[in-house]
Order: sequence, then C-alpha cells, then structure tokens
Amino acid sequence: MPKAKPRAPKQGAHALLGASSAHRWLHCPPSARLCEDMPDTGSPYAHEGTLAHELAALKLGQAFTEARSKTAYSAARAKLLGEIGKAAVLAENGGTAPRTDETTAKRAEASAAASAEAAVGVYVDMIRDDHAQLQGKPNVFIEQRVDYAHVVPEGFGTCDCILIGQGLDGQWQLRIYDYKHGKGVPVEAEGNPQLMLYALGALALFAPIYPITLISMTICQPRRDSLTSWAIPTEELLAWGEHIRPLAQQAHQGEGDLQEGDWCQFCPRATRCRERAERFVALEAYEYRLPGDPRDPLTDAELGDVLAIGERLDKWLSALRKHVQDTLLAGGTIPGWKLVEGRTVRAFGDLQAAFQLAKDSGVKEELLYVREPITLTALESLMGKKAFTETLAAQIIRKPGKPTLAPESDPRPAMTRKSAADDFAEDTPRAFFAYDNLDPNHTAEAYAIT
Ligand code: SF4
Repeated sequence: MPKAKPRAPKQGAHALLGASSAHRWLHCPPSARLCEDMPDTGSPYAHEGTLAHELAALKLGQAFTEARSKTAYSAARAKLLGEIGKAAVLAENGGTAPRTDETTAKRAEASAAASAEAAVGVYVDMIRDDHAQLQGKPNVFIEQRVDYAHVVPEGFGTCDCILIGQGLDGQWQLRIYDYKHGKGVPVEAEGNPQLMLYALGALALFAPIYPITLISMTICQPRRDSLTSWAIPTEELLAWGEHIRPLAQQAHQGEGDLQEGDWCQFCPRATRCRERAERFVALEAYEYRLPGDPRDPLTDAELGDVLAIGERLDKWLSALRKHVQDTLLAGGTIPGWKLVEGRTVRAFGDLQAAFQLAKDSGVKEELLYVREPITLTALESLMGKKAFTETLAAQIIRKPGKPTLAPESDPRPAMTRKSAADDFAEDTPRAFFAYDNLDPNHTAEAYAIT
C-alpha cells in the first residue's frame, strides 16, 4: 500500500475565501472583501471549541499516528482538560469569571471538562469504528491542511480528520470528518460547502497517490446528538467545484450582488450591513405586503413564510442589541441609547465566611449544603466509557424531547406521529424515542417511536 507524504500549504493566516465561511460568500459574494479587514470578534465559546479540537487531535494522534508515552499523554490530556473547564465556565458566564468561591468554581470546571471529553470521545470512537471498517491499513491524517486554490482563489483550510482506504468492494475512499463542539444549530453534511471544499483540497493532495472513486463527508456534533454523513462519487465533487468556480472568482474580486439570508448571522458585517437592515426595516414599516385581500386570513403557507421572516428578524434584532450594548460598554456612543444598571443579584462575597457566621448563630451545617447526584456524563467520564457501558447500559433511558418548532431546513427528521402533542396529553402513556441505533454508515438517524 502506498504511503502518503503530502505537501502541506503554509501555516498561518486565514484564507479570504475560507471553507468555514463558504456558505456565506457563495450566497453573497461581495461579503468576502467587505469583511476582509474586519476583526474576528468570535463568540465566548470559540476558545472552548478550539481546545476541544486540540483534545480530539491529541486522542486521535495517540490512537493512530504519534503515540506518546502514557505519562506524556496523561499530562497533555490533563492540561487540556483544565483549560477546557476554565474556558467552558467562562463562556457560560458570557466571557467573564463567575463570582463563586474556589470550590464551586473548580467543581463547575471539572464537570464542564468531563462533559467536553465525553463529547470528544464520541467523535474519536466514530473515527476508530470507521477506520476499522476500511480494508488493510487505512491512512489517517489529523488536522490536515488542504489547499483548494485550484478552484477557489487562494483557498486553503484545515480539515479535522481524513481517512483514506479501500472499502469492501476494493474501491479507494476518501473520508472527510468535521467535529463541531457547539450546542447550537445542528449542521448537516449533505451539500455542506465547507466539507466539499476540504474534500476538493484533499483530493488534489491525495488523488496522485490513491485512485479515489468515492468521497464521504461526516459532521459529528455530539452535544446536539447529531451525526450526519453524505457520500458522492469523485466526478460529482469535481463537477461541483466547476459549478462554484465563477462564484469564487466573483467573491475574490469583491463583485456580484449582496444577498441577505440565513448565512448573514455569521457575517462580521451583520449588524452594520445596509442590505440586511433595509430588508428588515422595510418589513417593520409594513412595506412588505402579502398579496391578497386584506380581509382574508393568512393561509398556512403564508403563516409559515411570515414566521420564517420573523425568526430571522428576531435574530437580527438580538445581534443589533448586543452590538449597540458592546459599543456603549466600550465607551462609545449611539444616539438615542444609554446604559442603565439592571436588576442587582444578591450573593455572598466570601461564602465560607458567611457560612461560618451562620453556623455560629446556630444553623446546622447539614442544612447549608444540598447533596446532588452528578450528571450521567460526569459519571461516564469518572468510570471510563467502557466500564460505564458494561455496568450501567441497562439503566439508561432516553427521555423524549419536548416537541420543538424548527424550519423545514433543519437537518433533524420531523417527528413521525399523527400529533406530536398526543405524547404529552396527561392520559396518554409516553412514547420513547430511540436515538441510539445509529446507522453504521453515519447517515442521519431517524427518530423511531418504540
Ligand atoms: S450581512 Fe448578509 S447581505 Fe450583508 S454582507 Fe453579510 S452576508 Fe451579505
């Protein structure tokens, strides 16, 4: 079997036409140049996500490519988990250190780190399983830089993991993996331009070495219980590359039309974009009219359209509110707005000292503390995945999630029942959803009522 020694593009700066923002610049080509010099403010969760990726790379490296000594691995893992715990608690608290005593803070950090490690473990286990399915000795590339500049000017990126090997039919496969640590909207692998660009870059790198005929792309988002895969023949991927080539050229030149859509939520210009504001201000001023007799009630289709527009308007207003508040907090001014003090929250400055005074005054110590069970995820981390599964698998149930409204484009399957509300009627026994029978090919699992 040939061994790959790929040529890696230079490490460093971000690409103007990055894969992670491709959904935006493919729909709104001028946005790439317009955002070029804007600072990447990121979210408070971004640092936690980066660290979780580092932990995933460490575990995959240990399993496949660069096994360290047990001591070195344990030290690197412990260091990362400590940093993840701190970053997660900070993010949960909106980017500022929570006002708690040290013991409570340490406990929160340990719990957050255990939860993150369990999520990363799902991703690592999935790649181990996929690796075992491929024939011979499949090649593994972790945090692999890929160059797709042959399609998208100056385009390059870093792919979380790539497997290359032969399937049962003897055909060579390229498998692209993306780990998403976020708990936000589940991201679907099918037609995902980020993964398709990584695949184009990986193909350019590896096709001279391996006769790859099939490409699969997988997004693993364990904290949303989301795992989706999509596979296409090599020719289809190459055809898609040709299809987007003119759009990428436009984006690189800063040409084309501005286009507002759901991709705007991740655009650095989102709060200052005139195109977007005009669209929503027109809506707010009732200049957006629904055709038909004003005395007629809205049809179901119109109701769906209005809700979809309102949802985007809602997100835009939230982003606008945050932007104005951040500007004022930084000492700037926005005409018509000021900061006022919100509701104050009472707390002990020194919890231990306060409790001591309470005890001195006669309050019994056992009344000052609540004994709480640790979470399932924390226990799994404590026992280790294998021992946890062997010991407790029979005790685990899946409680049905509350029916939640989602747009048609949401990758989760629709609840398959006559009336989702039936499950929640008081006189109806609860149905349970089986989420755990994941398709071995990692296609989106269906929620089946059992
Ligand atoms: S906010 Fe939307 S419309 Fe405006 S530049 Fe960004 S992607 Fe384009």
